[in-house]
Amino acid sequence: MANNQVNKTARPFDKSRFEALLNRRFFYAPAFEIYGGRAILRTTSRTAVPDEVVVEYETILAQLDNYSGPELGELCRKYDIRNPDTDNEVSEPQQFNLMFASSIGPTGQHPGFLRPETAQGHFLNFSRLLEFNDGRIPFASAQIGRSFRNEISPRAGLLRVREFTMAEIEHYVDPEDKRHERFSEVRDVELDLLDRHTQTAGSTKVTRMKIGDAVDKDIVANETLGYFLARIHQFLLKIGIDRTRLRFRQHMANEMAHYAMDCWDAEIQNSYGWTECVGCADRAAYDLSVHSAKTGHPLVVRQALKEPIITEKLVAEFNKKTFGKTFGKDSAVIQNIVGGMDQALLAKLQGELAQGSTTVTSSDGREFKLTPDLLTIEKKTFKQSIREFTPNVIEPSFGLGRILYALLEHSFWSREQDVERGVLSLPAVVAPTKVLIVPLSAKPEFDPLVKEVSAKLRKAGIFSRVDDSNTSIGKRYARNDELGTPYGLTLDFASVAKRTMTLRERDTTGQLIGDIDEVIGVVTELVNGTIDWAEACLRLPAYDSVQSVE
Ligand code: AMP
Repeated sequence: MANNQVNKTARPFDKSRFEALLNRRFFYAPAFEIYGGRAILRTTSRTAVPDEVVVEYETILAQLDNYSGPELGELCRKYDIRNPDTDNEVSEPQQFNLMFASSIGPTGQHPGFLRPETAQGHFLNFSRLLEFNDGRIPFASAQIGRSFRNEISPRAGLLRVREFTMAEIEHYVDPEDKRHERFSEVRDVELDLLDRHTQTAGSTKVTRMKIGDAVDKDIVANETLGYFLARIHQFLLKIGIDRTRLRFRQHMANEMAHYAMDCWDAEIQNSYGWTECVGCADRAAYDLSVHSAKTGHPLVVRQALKEPIITEKLVAEFNKKTFGKTFGKDSAVIQNIVGGMDQALLAKLQGELAQGSTTVTSSDGREFKLTPDLLTIEKKTFKQSIREFTPNVIEPSFGLGRILYALLEHSFWSREQDVERGVLSLPAVVAPTKVLIVPLSAKPEFDPLVKEVSAKLRKAGIFSRVDDSNTSIGKRYARNDELGTPYGLTLDFASVAKRTMTLRERDTTGQLIGDIDEVIGVVTELVNGTIDWAEACLRLPAYDSVQSVE
């Protein structure tokens, strides 16, 4: 039986928890954070909410991240939100810096800030990375590192902390072509989408849709963003997140940074509600443009054009000698006025000069008469063979602690017949120990076999542990089910006599039997993900617990 067919008795997400979440959201000092241009309310509470207002609250909650600071203040007054500890009224929401300030150097004179994300390190290295990639895009950089945020109410285990591990990708694309080479591979991946229109209408109902359709219908801004949303979805399922508790929520207009083209959060439902675990944004050219403006270092891609672009433009040419003599120190002022004219104004000027003279007016109201001996306006041909542009950035940003927390909640359950003991259904790819080796007896004749099996697994790159403790085999299995070890190999007296070994799967507790080397081959494939348990069941006979020694 495949993992997803197991009848797990995981705790359901009940209404009282949801109400507690509503309360938490609504009742607390209404400080809000400004980060990346958006306001986020940070709240907590224990006050009960009457049933009849739940719908109203749900509508507000659906749009909560879209409210501005003053609007949040308005909500606090309307719903009489108070400090849960003192019952005092709360002050107006105020902006504060989400970054931690520090000082650098022995005198501490240089102000510094702890990074709130790893992204800046990528942008600082952009020129070098572009060079590594032969000056061409698309390419991407990835980094895992610590980030720091001045959270006003850190809580809920790893969900909201002041120091956390992030994994970020910056994928650089051509602003005029955001198609993705491998989009066809993910086109049919179905995601549960909660778009901005649904939220602003006060609903949190998701729509299951193929990512290809979402991009075609402009619900997701472009292929590259869609490609990463699908890959995030696949990644989260692969590590064991329950797909029924995963949704992609689009940022609403106010919530999104002003420069962003589109932004979606992978939100995972857990006992605290829906938590953003991965953000994925099309940040346009903002980051590279700002870094470039501050450092004076161009962060651009220069692309040879296949066909040069030929353009004709009116250009003003000044007769330096006569112009300087006539206007002296005002020459620069007049040149700036003419230099700032668009093609239509230059054409008008050209016509007037052909009639004998024209006048231009400076910003302080002075008028200057211009004649054809001072300047001429002529059409010139320009040939452009290089296109220079600032790439756009698609940024998937993973909060590893949040993902891990959600994964543990989604993986932990207990068997109906043994509710006291837990099972941690971590997929082999993330389970710390992949295989448990269980010798049935501590007799010395088992030693060479245990050593052989563990050496062969090591050689196959599979991490295993031997449990030769003195407890019953059932207890040893149960202990390792709780630790998330997906497979167990049991060596018994038949193993010594006939070189057979059993293979146990954690979630179904199903067992198979086979020759030692054959079983090692199957378990290696299971751990590497090249076959699943159903396939393993076709390769090896089931073990019926009455194996004979003869
Ligand atoms: P953001 O840049 O705010 O979209 O954050 C990117 C990711 O970092 C989020 O999707 C979260 O997974 C994670 N994250 C943000 N703030 C925190 C925090 N205070 N504690 C833990 N993880 C966080």
